[in-house]
Amino acid sequence: MTKSEISYYEPAPIPDHKNALESMMARFDVAAEILGLESGVYQYLKTPVKQVIVSIPIQMDDGRIRVFEGYRVIHNNVLGPSKGGVRYAPDITLDEVKALAAWMTWKCAVVNIPFGGAKGGVKCDPSKLTKVELEKITRRYTANLLDIFGPDQDVPAPDMNTNEQIMAWIMDTYSMHVKRTETAVVTGKPLIIGGSLGRREATGRGVMIVTLAAMEKLGLKPKGARVAVQGFGNVGSVSAKLLEEAGCTIVGISDISGGYYRSDGIDINAAIDWVSHHGTLEGFSRGDPISQDELLTLDVDVLVPAAKEDQITAKNAPRIKAKIIAEGANGPTSAEADPILQEKGIVVIPDILANAGGVTVSYFEWVQNRQGYFWPLDQVNSRLERVMVEAFQNVWESAERYNVSLRIGAYVLAIDKVQQALKIRGIYG
Ligand code: NAD
Repeated sequence: MTKSEISYYEPAPIPDHKNALESMMARFDVAAEILGLESGVYQYLKTPVKQVIVSIPIQMDDGRIRVFEGYRVIHNNVLGPSKGGVRYAPDITLDEVKALAAWMTWKCAVVNIPFGGAKGGVKCDPSKLTKVELEKITRRYTANLLDIFGPDQDVPAPDMNTNEQIMAWIMDTYSMHVKRTETAVVTGKPLIIGGSLGRREATGRGVMIVTLAAMEKLGLKPKGARVAVQGFGNVGSVSAKLLEEAGCTIVGISDISGGYYRSDGIDINAAIDWVSHHGTLEGFSRGDPISQDELLTLDVDVLVPAAKEDQITAKNAPRIKAKIIAEGANGPTSAEADPILQEKGIVVIPDILANAGGVTVSYFEWVQNRQGYFWPLDQVNSRLERVMVEAFQNVWESAERYNVSLRIGAYVLAIDKVQQALKIRGIYG
């Protein structure tokens, strides 16, 4: 497919130039052109298989009825059952869910696990809901999607503002309806009901593994390498801790409360301990306060954006000094920032590779549930390491082969894999 041909296609599913879907499609189009995707395949791969909107009426604690809106988008299931988290947020949109679902398709293909991509969400603000209300929303959302979810169909997991408890409610509601305990319907569950050892740390561990692999390629030693981490939740804090354990000096961290800097290294255990007691880093005194912008543009070897979308943009990209950016978050770099970073020679390990450790161990959890046999932690971690190192090497080779960034190399690899599977399965109908 040529560039001029692409312009004749219908616009990306949601042509909002500010949203995540547009950002995903900008990269998809470049990879499609490199692969010379035929137009029918291009249409097939950009269009979600299924998009469901459900209404979730709930009796609140004060007796009033409120109706929430829930979404589930299955982007693609050519490689296997679709997989993807459920996000609870007041400003969530169907467009955002579509983009995240597509990213899951590419992510699973990059790490070579037999899943397609999906994502879900409920438009609600969990901080304003009681536990009882949250449980009701989760159970009704699940009941409304009984025909969609299933270990062989579509397997949800945690995402922003959802956690192990919510996964337990999803598993229980589904199990009540099918009249048997079905642990493999959801991943990211508590250990006691079939969760996997190592799942909670898996995304940060994957970030650490690919960061060290990139450092090796660039001839950088972990010992003494300077690192800044944006976001100090699950992904950011674990990435920081494991990189510190690998010998790096974590000079900057940040969260919603602001940034913190210390040239000889922040004590990451102390920061984790602080957050566990105070909720955020606010008031953390073992580092000098800096702005979010200063954090992103620190003179470091490695920058790990692990907070949210669109943090590295055309505005700040020219000032970024890191040699490696490891994208712990989904979509932290805008499409406009990509060429600026590439021009500066910064190695960006793209989200669909860098944060794929989470879905990889979710896959392990699903396998363990189906085997009814659980693996020790060292086995989970060593298998994760093997998957991440292999995926990194494949992406690196793909980028070299097409003379493109690692991001486009990863998209090319993923899209090619899904299109090959699609072609060999054929189109039914
Ligand atoms: P989380 O809610 O545990 O943590 C988010 C962190 O980002 C918090 O410390 C928060 O204070 C901080 N933050 C929010 N806005 C910020 C801002 N403007 N500036 C700086 N910090 C800010 O979430 P998480 O699970 O760590 O997820 C973070 C990102 O990683 C998301 O993009 C998520 O989709 C992605 N991700 C998570 C997983 C996983 O397994 N948890 C897997 C793949 C990708």
